[in-house]
Amino acid sequence: MEKKVSVTSPSMPPFDEFVEEIRDLWHSRWLTHNGPKHNLLMERLQSYLNVQNVCLFANGHLALEMAFEALGLTGEVITTPFTFASTTHAIVRRGLVPRFCDIDPYTFNMDPDKIEALITEKTTAIVPVHVYGTPCDVQRIGEIAERYGLKVIYDAAHAFGVSINGKGIGSFGDMTMFSFHATKVFHTVEGGALSYSNAALTPRLAQLKQFGLVGTEDAVAVGTNAKMTEINAAMGLCNLNHIDEQIEKRHIIAKRYMEHLKGLEGIRILHPNENVRHNWAYFPVIFENYRKDRKMIIEQLNVNGIFPRKYFYPLTSDFVCYNEFFDKTDTPIARYAADRVLALPMYADLSIEDVDKICSIIIE
Ligand SMILES: *Cc1c(COP(=O)(O)O)cnc(C)c1O
Repeated sequence: MEKKVSVTSPSMPPFDEFVEEIRDLWHSRWLTHNGPKHNLLMERLQSYLNVQNVCLFANGHLALEMAFEALGLTGEVITTPFTFASTTHAIVRRGLVPRFCDIDPYTFNMDPDKIEALITEKTTAIVPVHVYGTPCDVQRIGEIAERYGLKVIYDAAHAFGVSINGKGIGSFGDMTMFSFHATKVFHTVEGGALSYSNAALTPRLAQLKQFGLVGTEDAVAVGTNAKMTEINAAMGLCNLNHIDEQIEKRHIIAKRYMEHLKGLEGIRILHPNENVRHNWAYFPVIFENYRKDRKMIIEQLNVNGIFPRKYFYPLTSDFVCYNEFFDKTDTPIARYAADRVLALPMYADLSIEDVDKICSIIIE
C-alpha cells in the first residue's frame, strides 16, 4: 500500500496565505499575550459562532479546566463516559467527582431522562458533550439545571460551526468549550476557546490563563499558563477564511458515505435533526448484528491502508487511571455504543474514490 488513509487529516490553508498572515510578526515581535491576531480571531469567532463572548486558550482541555474554575464548581459533576479523555480528566484534575450519566441510544449524547437520578446535594454542574457535533438536548438539560440550580458547561470540541434553529451551539448553558486541535473541523494547530454570555466572567478568565496575575506585580489567583499565541491565532485566521468551504466538502463526503451505507442491514448511521446546521466532523457507523463484526472490518480496512478509529472506545470510566473509582455497570447504553461504533475516515480533503473504496470493503 503506497498511500495511507487515516481517520482524520488536518485542513491546511494555502501556504502563501499563512506566510502573509505571519509576516508582520517579524517586525512587531508581538508573539503572544493578547496580540492583535489573537484579538482579531476572538472577534471573528464571536461573529462566526454567533455567541456573545469568546475567550481563547492554548488548547481545549485547559479551556475546560478554566471554565470549571471560573464558575467555582465543587463536589460532584454529572457527565458522560462516552467522550474523549479530556472531558473526564478536566473534571478530576479540578478535584471534582464525575458522576457518569448514560447516553441516548440514538444521538449518543447524555440522556436527559437519566440526569435527575444522579443529582445529590453535592452536585454543582452538568458537563454534557455534543458528541460527533450532534447537539445535546439543550432545552431539557437547561430546564433540569435551572430547577436544581446547577451550572451547565458544554464540551463542544466536536461542534464547531453547529447551530440549532440558527442559534450558535456555543450560546447554550453557562459556558461552552471548543477545541481547535489540528484534527478538529476548525483548528489553530493547538488551541481552544470558551464561549459564554455572562461578560462578568471575562476578567476572571483572563487572569486564570495568565498565572492569575493582575498588572505586573501581584497574583490574585493560582492561575496557569493557557494563552493562545499569535502564530496559532494566525493559523486560525487563515483557516476561518475557508471554513464554510471545508464544511461543505465534508458534507459531500458524508452524503457519499450515506449513499453507499444507508439501508444496509446491521449498519446504523447517526442522523442530525432537520433544524441543525451540522458540521460533519465525524462519520461514525454502528455495527449492530452486521454480517461481519467490527474487529474484522477494521482488519480488512487496515490491510488496505485505511485506518478508522473506535471513537469512543473505551469509555473514559474504563481507563486504568480510574480503575478503582467507578461502577462499570452504570452506563449500559454507553458501553453498547463503545463496543459497536467505528469512526470512518472523514476530513475535507478525503477523496470520493477513497470513500467508495472504504465502503466497498465494508460491504464486500
Ligand atoms: C479534542 C477534544 C477535547 C480536547 O481538546 P484539545 O484542544 O485537544 O485539548 C475535549 N473533548 C473532546 C470531546 C474532544 O474531542
